[in-house]
Amino acid sequence: MLRTHEHDELERTTLRVIKDHILPNVDDWEREGIFPAHELMKKFGDAGLLGITKPEAYGGLDLDFSYEMVFAEALGSIPASGLSSAIGVQSTMCTPALAAHGSDALKREYLAPTIAGDRVGAIGVSEPGAGSDVANIRTNARRDGDDYVINGSKMWITNGAQADWICLLCNTASDRPKHGNKSLIIVPMDTPGVQLSRKLDKMLYFSSDTAQLFFDDVRVPASNRIGEENLGFTYQMEQFQEERLFVVARSLRAMEMAIEVTIDYTRQREVFGKPVLANQVVYHKLAELQSELEAIRSLLYRATEAYVGGENVTKLASMAKFLIGKLAMRLPAECQQYWGGQGVMNENWISRAYRDIRLTSIGGGANEIMLEVVAKQMGIHPGRRGG
Ligand SMILES: Cc1cc2nc3c(=O)[nH]c(=O)nc-3n(C[C@H](O)[C@H](O)[C@H](O)COP(=O)(O)OP(=O)(O)OC[C@H]3O[C@@H](n4cnc5c(N)ncnc54)[C@H](O)[C@@H]3O)c2cc1C
Repeated sequence: MLRTHEHDELERTTLRVIKDHILPNVDDWEREGIFPAHELMKKFGDAGLLGITKPEAYGGLDLDFSYEMVFAEALGSIPASGLSSAIGVQSTMCTPALAAHGSDALKREYLAPTIAGDRVGAIGVSEPGAGSDVANIRTNARRDGDDYVINGSKMWITNGAQADWICLLCNTASDRPKHGNKSLIIVPMDTPGVQLSRKLDKMLYFSSDTAQLFFDDVRVPASNRIGEENLGFTYQMEQFQEERLFVVARSLRAMEMAIEVTIDYTRQREVFGKPVLANQVVYHKLAELQSELEAIRSLLYRATEAYVGGENVTKLASMAKFLIGKLAMRLPAECQQYWGGQGVMNENWISRAYRDIRLTSIGGGANEIMLEVVAKQMGIHPGRRGG
């Protein structure tokens, strides 16, 4: 991936917004279990960071996806992955299908204010009964004249308690195969019948509001549908490519930071008359972890380059998401080990990293699902090829 002066500039801008508006508040937000989504998104919107690849006509920067990846890596330096996820939902996960397939009117009403940071968005795919098995979602949108009437529920929705709108995956045909019976529909969260069931109490991502939502006879105009009816599954699979690349880039940097703080700590902490870091097993382990990160970074950049070139990168993005997810299950724990008792102190970020980074192997598609997708792409899956 060719890195230019413009990429550096975008990274600097992102780090400045993080320094000015997140670092002074992040510990309070983590303690309080919520962050002010509208206030914070506005700061990112004002800096032009919420529509990096989106068309200028809707307030975006119209840059290629390599810039989005620079942004995502920079977000990884936020010492709370719940916040980088919430921002990523707004910038990279709930808007790609809208930008690519939405009508001009829909983009003016929802994309433009989301890029500006005036409205907060969410993405609603997972349900209580279907997370990995997206094709089996139950939420249903029945056509009634010029409207859809939506019933069902969504689970684990990031920004769910504060969002103004949600990009909702719904079944729109009962007589068609599961991969061709869904639509993506924009639902304003203040529509009668949308209920926030509960803000979920989690072991990680404390400052991010993850919610369960119910939809009870929610009526929205059919013009709120993104693109064509029953192509929603395909649109969501396309949208997942950007989500997965975002998660890889963000988590890479977060894990790199776990290595960096561990180097700092073990360099100054002495045991048996020498720094912890001076033990070969310690510096070898940290060198090994950094090597693994760099290998995944190379795969990420290759996938990004291919994506910028217009290729479908489902296979490469899923491989990278699998590898980062697998590494996320051990890297934070292996770093934390060298902190001794200090590693479990809430005042040390490594303890939050140990919790937060754990989600990488589950959120946005579990490791096993990534392997399912890769196997389908390789043509060795006993089921349908594709994914
Ligand atoms: C904090 C948080 C934020 C989230 N934000 C959002 C959001 O904003 N929007 C949204 O739509 N979703 C969101 N999610 C949902 C997330 O994408 C799902 O949790 C994830 O896809 C897994 O689905 P599930 O939890 O239903 O697990 P399940 O589908 O119940 O799977 C459980 C486990 O079974 C295993 N498994 C599943 N399938 C297979 C298989 N074929 N072979 C072998 N093993 C398998 C995996 O290990 C998997 O982890 C979020 C989740 C969390 C925890």
